[in-house]
Amino acid sequence: MSSVELPVNSSEQALEFVDSCALPTTWANFTMHAFIEPATGKEHVALTLGDVANGEPVLARIHSECLTGDALFSKRCDCGPQLELAMQKIAAEGRGVILYLRQEGRGIGLLAKVQAYHLQDEGADTVEANQRLGFAADLRSYTLCDPMLKHLGISSVKLMTNNPRKIAALQNMQVRVEEQIPLIIARNPYNERYLATKASKLGHMLAPDL
Ligand SMILES: [Zn+2]
Repeated sequence: MSSVELPVNSSEQALEFVDSCALPTTWANFTMHAFIEPATGKEHVALTLGDVANGEPVLARIHSECLTGDALFSKRCDCGPQLELAMQKIAAEGRGVILYLRQEGRGIGLLAKVQAYHLQDEGADTVEANQRLGFAADLRSYTLCDPMLKHLGISSVKLMTNNPRKIAALQNMQVRVEEQIPLIIARNPYNERYLATKASKLGHMLAPDL
């Protein structure tokens, strides 16, 4: 597989496959696949474990980049623990995929996210803060999942998510969502309000007492 198969005009390809390599981690030895969006220069990766192209539903996580949560151990959100749990579940199953999309801070970018956190420090909730900065509550797009999954030979998934928007997005791409597997992360004093706002304003399926 040298490049992503997309409709005719190659100059309008939404995503190009660049290369793959081994990525040993604490939980399993994944394969990392690198992609670039020619239009924006944005770089994205997918991690796979096992044979994901054999037609069986693939345990999957669509994860949007969160530098503070994924790499800096922030307790303001549940991104890091969700990523870790998803990798552990894939390792336990011996097969799965993580699409890691570089759309930091629900799509507003890292610097705006710091500004949004500042507003939250002063009392705004996560949705109000983004809106006060002139952004929609959630700017994330999942359209790139389509060429990524096609490149990897995946047409059916068991999706680890609490977010109904992701399920709807995949179904719109003719990807079969065979199962939804919740990823429930423990609350702490710092993420409690964030998780409550995700449930009440962004439609996430999170039980209030978890
Ligand atoms: Zn986060």
